[in-house]
Amino acid sequence: MSQTMPPLGANQQFCRSCGQIISSQAPTCPHCGAPTGVRDVPPNASPKSRLAALLLCILLPFVAINGAHRFYVGKIGTGILELITLGGLGIWTLIDLILIIVGSFKDKQGRPVVVWND
Ligand SMILES: [Zn+2]
Repeated sequence: MSQTMPPLGANQQFCRSCGQIISSQAPTCPHCGAPTGVRDVPPNASPKSRLAALLLCILLPFVAINGAHRFYVGKIGTGILELITLGGLGIWTLIDLILIIVGSFKDKQGRPVVVWND
């Protein structure tokens, strides 16, 4: 598009779907109805990336490193425990994986790790 985007106000964002300027608090776009993702991010969400935690939890057990996602979110103690028990023989890691997927995995401060990207 050759059209210049107008500047955004403090509480505005562009709709990811139709490009209209909408309120940054709007859970869905009033123009096209597309979800903005705002609703999925609680104000106390962890700054840690959910995608990174998910990848660490899935990939590193293949090289016998379980619990790296716990180190990532600052849970060093249980991270070491998960590492030396090989993720409770995989069961603990599997449970963590499910928690990350459903958005119930918490960081060290108890904040949910729900934001997919930094
Ligand atoms: Zn829209």
